Parts: sequence; structure tokens; C-alpha cells
Amino acid sequence: MKKYIYLDNAATTALDAEVLSAMLPYLTEHYGNPSSSYALGREAKAAIEANRKSVALALGVSPLNIYFTSGGTESNNTAIACAVNELGCKHIITSSIEHHAVLNTVKRYCERSAIDCTILTPSTQGFLNLQELEDKLIEKNREGIKCLVSLMHANNEIGVLLDIEKVGNLCEKYDAIFHSDCVQTIGHLEMDLKKYKLHFASASGHKFHGPKGTGILYASERVKLSPLIIGGGQERQSRAGTENVAGIVGFGKALELSMRNHPEESTYIRSLNELMRNALSQSIPDVSFNSPIDGLYTVLSVNFPNAMPGSLLLAHLDRAGICASGGSACSSGSDGGSHVINALGLSSSGSTVRFSFSKLTSATDVDEAVRALSAIFQSTVPVA
Ligand code: PLP
Repeated sequence: MKKYIYLDNAATTALDAEVLSAMLPYLTEHYGNPSSSYALGREAKAAIEANRKSVALALGVSPLNIYFTSGGTESNNTAIACAVNELGCKHIITSSIEHHAVLNTVKRYCERSAIDCTILTPSTQGFLNLQELEDKLIEKNREGIKCLVSLMHANNEIGVLLDIEKVGNLCEKYDAIFHSDCVQTIGHLEMDLKKYKLHFASASGHKFHGPKGTGILYASERVKLSPLIIGGGQERQSRAGTENVAGIVGFGKALELSMRNHPEESTYIRSLNELMRNALSQSIPDVSFNSPIDGLYTVLSVNFPNAMPGSLLLAHLDRAGICASGGSACSSGSDGGSHVINALGLSSSGSTVRFSFSKLTSATDVDEAVRALSAIFQSTVPVA
């Protein structure tokens, strides 16, 4: 098998071997439908409920607040649909650097229904002006218009972090519904969802060594979740469809492992991030960084000098067996580059590459990637 240097862990992570072992019996022995009343079905149902409990414990909430979904995209869509269709939100406040699973969903509601939206633009470092958010909340509150605030906890392309507690307090003060896309932070940061005064939070299993196609939506007891996917009565009437039992077991195991090992793993990953930042600064003239020093430790977004287009740089890296991305994996192939880098006004100043790390990344991976990049910029590798 070809050996890759995998530096794209914000796009997805490798499944942990222990997670796979936990999942396998639910694909083979315990294959019952959790809605079946006989023992084989009850075994599957019991596994779902045990994992709901462990996920809730890791996030500081009640199992009644946890709904299993197919991933971050579905969770984001469900939260936004519920806020608009059931909770009376007529105005959505979001930002121009949200993942498309939020941004395109909000835009669609605004185009097709009587919903208005405000799209906040962050500074070039990616920070939102929370005074601007408060001013908008005051204005809408005075007009008697209920708001949904949907802001991501950590940006997946540059790793900038939201002051989620402060936003939670503002939403409470002005009676707004608060949803946060926590896909890049749940499994990577210690989270106490109650403290943030959230109504909804989304997470995705494949970002922390769990299986793809798994996720959760946290919904506070202050809201009644309504289904986006309609059918049977699974997930307490809130998400129809036969449950992905092995996936749920995998999500639960992956979160348990990542929280148990969080202190050591986060310190290790942070050291790799710093190693790459320092090594690139020393070996490539005029390199700069879009990720704040105190941002999410898994992500390093780098701005390379204007020497070559981003797509060519990524092609050189690919040829060297290095996996990294220009923006989010979900937007690769779309025209016009990353909407995040464009929104930050950084698109004209060079080419941007996001490197992202996990517990499976080694210092050698980082060294080899930096060496390959230096070679590319010294043109020892011919530019095609
Ligand atoms: N939100 C963010 C911030 C993400 O990074 C991603 C995945 O790239 C998603 C949502 C979508 O999650 P999923 O792939 O589980 O649908």
C-alpha cells in the first residue's frame, strides 16, 4: 500500500482500531433491528442507549439531550429547520466563514421563505465583532423578531475559535436560539455544553477517529426537537430511520477514547502544530499563517508567497504523497477557491494550504512535508 503523509485530519481521520473492534460485533453478531421487541433487537437498542449515556456524560448533559444522526451536515440542517419551522425564528444571524452545511442551509431558507438573515463578516484574522452581533440582537429584539444565531465553535479551515460562552450569554439576554456547529471541537476540546447556554450543538464522528456517517445533535430541554427526516418513531420521534447501531457504537467509543486521552493527545498534537509553524517560518521566506496562535490546535492554515497558484502547489504536494487541502474537503472542486479564505480577504495574497494533525501524525511526517515544501519553493522540483 502506498504510504501517504496524511496532514488533512480536519477533513477526516483514520478510524481508531479500538473503535473498529467495538463496532464489529454490531455488524455481525448483534445485527438486530433496535425496534424489534425480541432479544436480538433489545441487544442493539441497549447498545444505543449505553452510548447515548456515555456521549452525554462526556459533554456534561443528560442522555435525553442527545440525538444520533448521520453526521455534522444532518445535525446542522436539523437544528436550523427546527429553529425556523417550530421555534418561531424569523431572522438568522450567521457568519460568512461557516461550513457550507450551515451557510447554504441558511441561504436557502432566506431565498425560499419569509426568513431574513444577517451574515456577519469577521476580521482578516477570522474574529467576529461581538458588538455587531449584540447590536443586531438588540435591533431584532426591539422589533419583536425572534432570532436564531448559528455560529461555529471552531472554523474548520483556519481554526479560529468563537467565544462561545459570551455568545451564549448574549443569546440568553436577547431571547435568541443559539446553535453552534461544534464539528471541529467536540472530540478535540473538553466541552461542557450546559455552560455555553446552547439550544443546539452539532458533532461528527469521523473528525475524531470515529466512523463516517455518524454524528449527534445536542438539543437542550428548552426546545422540543422536531424531525427533519420523517418516518418511523426512532430517536424519540425526532429522527426517523433504522438506527446505524454499529456507527453509534463507534461514535460513542471514539468520543470516550478522545476524552480519556485528551490531555496527552492535545499536548502532543499542539507540539506538532508548533513544529510545523516554526519549521516553515525558518525554511520558506515570506510564509505567513492564517491560524491564530491560540486557535484550535489541530489546524494550521498557511499562506505561501505568491510564487504559484494554490492548485499547482497542492498538485506538487499530492505528487510527493502529502495529503493537505486548499480549504475544506467539501469545497474542493468548486470554482473560486475557499469561501473562508475569500471572506477573510486573503485570496489575492498567495496560496493557502491547510495542514491538520491528529494523534496518528508523527514529527517525521511534519519534517518530510516541510522538506518537500522547501524543495517546491526552491524549484528543485520542476514546476509543471
Ligand atoms: N461542519 C464543519 C465545521 C465541518 O468541518 C464539517 C466537515 O467537514 C461538517 C460540518 C460536515 O460534517 P459531516 O461530514 O459529518 O457531514
